[in-house]
Amino acid sequence: MKALVYYGPHDIRYQDVPTPRPKEGEVLVHVRAVSICGSDLAAYKAVSSMRSPGLIMGHEFSGEIVQLGEGVDNLKVGNRVGVITNIYCGKCPDCLEGRTNVCDHRYIIGTTMKAGSYNGAMSEFVVAPAEKIMLLPDYVSFDEAALVEPLSISLRATKHVAHEVPSRAVAVLGVGPIGLMAIMCMKNLGSAKIVAIDLLQNRLELARKCGATDTILSGQDVPALIRQMTDNVGIDVVFDAAGVPSTVNTAIEIVRNGGSILMVGMASPTLEIAYKHAVSKELKLQASYMYTTEMKEGLQMIADTKLNVAQMITSRHPLSEGPEVFEELASGNTKEVKVILFPE
Ligand SMILES: [Zn+2]
Ligand SMILES: [Zn+2]
Repeated sequence: MKALVYYGPHDIRYQDVPTPRPKEGEVLVHVRAVSICGSDLAAYKAVSSMRSPGLIMGHEFSGEIVQLGEGVDNLKVGNRVGVITNIYCGKCPDCLEGRTNVCDHRYIIGTTMKAGSYNGAMSEFVVAPAEKIMLLPDYVSFDEAALVEPLSISLRATKHVAHEVPSRAVAVLGVGPIGLMAIMCMKNLGSAKIVAIDLLQNRLELARKCGATDTILSGQDVPALIRQMTDNVGIDVVFDAAGVPSTVNTAIEIVRNGGSILMVGMASPTLEIAYKHAVSKELKLQASYMYTTEMKEGLQMIADTKLNVAQMITSRHPLSEGPEVFEELASGNTKEVKVILFPE
C-alpha cells in the first residue's frame, strides 16, 4: 500500500510499504479521511519524542472496515467507522481510576509513546483494535468523523469548567482547530460572551462563524480591551490553546480574580509565568490532556448537529501530495486551518 512515512524533520516520503494484516481482535480500515494535527506538524518541523523515524503518522481519521481479524464478530466489512486512538493498558492505577488519558503504558495510533510506535492513518490502510471502533451514523461524513479526535480534546477541557461557563465571559487564546472547537463547546455550554484572540485575522473571522461574540487581534492592548468588554471585572474562564509564555501570561492578566485558566496548548515545554500574580488572584489552573470518554461524546454531538466542525476544513489533498502540504504548513505562510488528506 501507499503511505506517508516519517523519516525526521522536513522529511516525509510517500512510498510503498507492506499492507498491515489484522491480528486476532483487530480490524483493517481503509482510510477515507485523515486530518493533519498540530502535533504532526511539530514533529515535521523539529525532532519530537512522540514520532520515531519509520512511523506512519495520522491519529485523526475515519474509514471503512475492509477485513476482520479472528474473533471479531460485532463488526462487518463495509462499516463506516471512526477510531478511538488511545490504546491504554486498562490495568494500571491510572486506568483503574479512569485516567486512561495519562496511562504510562498506552499506545496512541499514529505516534510513538514509551510503550512503542503504532502506525497511523496517513496510509491506504490502518489496523485498529475492534474495541476502539466507533460506528458512524450515515449522516456524519468521513471528514467530520476525522475531526472527532481534536474535538474530544477541546470537549474534555471545557467539561472541567462546565459549571463556570454558562452565562459567563470566556476567552480563547489561539484559534487554530483546538481553539475553534473550544469556542463551539463553550457556546454549546451557554457562555454569554466568547472572546477569540489570535495573531491572524482570517482565523478570527472563522472564530466568529464558530460562535465567538468578540475578537481581538494579538498585538493590540489585550488586557485594556478585555477590561472594557467586562466592566473591569475580567474573564471568568480563559482557554489557552497555545501554551507559550505570551499566552499563559496574557491569560493570568485577563482572567478575573478567582477565575480559571484551562491549560491545553503546550507549545513551550517550559516557560516563565507571573506566578505571584496568579497566586494573589487565587486563580484555578486546570490542565487538560487528550480525552477519556470524550471521543464518543464528541461524535454524538456532531451527529446531533450541536456543532459544525466541517467549517474549519480549508483544504483536502490526496495523500501523495502530503510532503508538499506539510512543507507549506510548516512555512507558516499559510491560511490553512484544518487540512484533510485522503488516499487516492
Ligand atoms: Zn492531534
Ligand atoms: Zn493503564
